[in-house]
Amino acid sequence: MSEAPHLTFDVDKPGVIKGHLVVPKGADCEVLSLPVFSFNKGEGPRLLITGGCHGNELEGPLVARRLIEWLPEAQTCGRVIIVPVLNPPAVQAFSRNTPTDGLNLNRVFPGRADGSVTERIADAVSRLLLPMADTVFDLHSFGPTWDFPPSTTTHPIADPDLMAKTIRMAEAFKLPMTLVWDHPDTPGMFDISAHNQGKVFVCAELGGGTIGAEALAIYEAGVRNALISLGLVEGKAEHPVFRQRKSSHTLQTRRPADELKSPARGIFEPRCSMLDEVKRGDIIGILHPMDSSSANSTEIWSPSTSIVCAIRSGGYVEVDEWLALLARPLDR
Ligand SMILES: [Zn+2]
Repeated sequence: MSEAPHLTFDVDKPGVIKGHLVVPKGADCEVLSLPVFSFNKGEGPRLLITGGCHGNELEGPLVARRLIEWLPEAQTCGRVIIVPVLNPPAVQAFSRNTPTDGLNLNRVFPGRADGSVTERIADAVSRLLLPMADTVFDLHSFGPTWDFPPSTTTHPIADPDLMAKTIRMAEAFKLPMTLVWDHPDTPGMFDISAHNQGKVFVCAELGGGTIGAEALAIYEAGVRNALISLGLVEGKAEHPVFRQRKSSHTLQTRRPADELKSPARGIFEPRCSMLDEVKRGDIIGILHPMDSSSANSTEIWSPSTSIVCAIRSGGYVEVDEWLALLARPLDR
């Protein structure tokens, strides 16, 4: 019998503590020690910030490292626990899923103590970190093959009070987009586990494409705004400037009409950009088949008046892969 998952430090101890979350070994992997940073200034909000759930989204771990540098000076009360990398094997491989078992960490919550490595990580997080927080920020991004604005997202939540609280928290980041995303594949997601425990959970989707210094500054400002709104630090929240504008949209998607999928294999040529407004019948992009000299290119039209929240910007697409995600202003 291997040891149980545990933290190497006492979370109730005041001050700044650097320790580890120990995920027990299994048949597929040795013990994992995930670096954990605890900032405890007594009474107040209890926040958990995680990054590196998906290994090819490195914005979250980078923003988490910046917060670790900044928080000791800035924090005035409460407790913040930061785990910059939830899935070290996936981050080391720059892979969305864990290479060892092929699983997506954000689909196996609450995990299994006797499962494969991805399930054991989820189990350790669910049992040891989640219960210590009232609010969770999980830092993701859309990855290198998408054009996507710095955003916060949530899924529709059945409890109207928790939904309203979560949207308010997501909007407090003041990022260019807050999205209530009617996602087709939510079982096993980290946020569903947290919602089931009544916690406010905001998934930050920190842009798409490759990582740049300007974008990282926006993401960091967004998380700082959220910490100010929670009362963990003092200061005045400010809208980050994105594409020469200080604006925020709160949008919602509806399934399945807002998910534009590829009708064939090929290369997608985007004809609009993230946050563009499109009318019904406008061309979103063109899909060019490359397998046959006789196959025609296909125009992909918008089915409705919408705002483009995500558009494919790279990679060879297969049939039924997503090309774009549309949304409209949130119906409150
Ligand atoms: Zn992700």
